[in-house]
Amino acid sequence: MTERLYNSDAYLKTVTAKVTGKEGEFLIFDRTVFAPDSGGQNSDLGTVGGMKVLLATERDGEILHQLSREDAEGVSVGDELLMEIDWERRFDHMQNHIGEHILSGLFKSEYDLDNKGFRLGEDVGTFDIDSREITQEMLDRIEELANDVVYRSLPVQITMVKDAEEAKKYPLRKELKADEDIIIVSIPGVDCVACCCPHPSDTSQVGIIKITGTEKYKGMTRISFKCGKRALMDYRQKHRVISMLAEKFSADEFSLPEKVAAADRKNDEMHRELNRMKGIVADIESARLMAVESPVIAGELAEGDMDVVRRVSRKITDNDSRPAIVSSASDCCVLLAFSGEAKVDFGAVVKAHAAALGGKGGGKPGSAQAFFGDVESMRSFVKIAVEEAERSLQVFGI
Ligand SMILES: [Zn+2]
Repeated sequence: MTERLYNSDAYLKTVTAKVTGKEGEFLIFDRTVFAPDSGGQNSDLGTVGGMKVLLATERDGEILHQLSREDAEGVSVGDELLMEIDWERRFDHMQNHIGEHILSGLFKSEYDLDNKGFRLGEDVGTFDIDSREITQEMLDRIEELANDVVYRSLPVQITMVKDAEEAKKYPLRKELKADEDIIIVSIPGVDCVACCCPHPSDTSQVGIIKITGTEKYKGMTRISFKCGKRALMDYRQKHRVISMLAEKFSADEFSLPEKVAAADRKNDEMHRELNRMKGIVADIESARLMAVESPVIAGELAEGDMDVVRRVSRKITDNDSRPAIVSSASDCCVLLAFSGEAKVDFGAVVKAHAAALGGKGGGKPGSAQAFFGDVESMRSFVKIAVEEAERSLQVFGI
């Protein structure tokens, strides 16, 4: 069994250890400073003999240290190698891990709610509280109490007990999973739970505990949080974003919501005004096009997107039974439509001729659309479409 030095000293960063076993790229040592992936958090990383440890994982009481295949080939059983963990990563794990103990202990003591699952990701930690009804007031209260626990610099006590019977003497928050060699982690008056990860020696080292979000999850509430340096980095990043927005809106940070609401109102007004103007354009352009005496109404707008083209086309088809082919020179788009009896299949016209001119589109007999990469191709298509429409009308003797 690998001796786990982090159980008695979570601050031990380096040690020399002897290789006692080897399975492919996995090395087993007589002792280790590497905490394996367990209980919802990733393993320590670092080096052994200057070679990168890619993963530390537990199997049958041993801790396996994964190297690259190439590095592992150069190691033999009996070798003594200097181990060194990535301390910044370990301490981040310790800060966030004990932060989760504090938050979970408080949810239990304040609201009698249980933590049903914990994961510490590379960026954020989450845990699932067995209630859907977690209010903002509850979250604020837990967050404040949790940070009070940090300010009080309470000891994190690690006690090793030999079996479940002995563990019963402790007010454990969660049911035991192991029945021997149990490590009990307690913060007096806050939390007491069995756990086998490394922890800081007192709560002040967590620095800050911040709840960053909640979501509903399988009848529970999944709570996201960040502690320590993660929380500081999160604050720094958010502060930069807020400062940038404040500058953009010429506001101080706390009046940003008001400024954004005012910008939204202005945007809505402009949108309404734009709609009104498009309506006016559609009235004028449709009247101009309908005044031309020809069996097929074909007109090109100098400016306008498909929305404008569609509005013009709709005005025509609402008032005129002739086929209408309306296009826009600025956006190289065409709408072909008519409201009369189906005598021209515009969908078929687009299908037959648009692609050959580099266009895309489709539609039904009574309404079809096409988009082109340049105005010349669009005009060539319109010319063909008008001819096709006229030919169809002649067949029907119109
Ligand atoms: Zn723990």
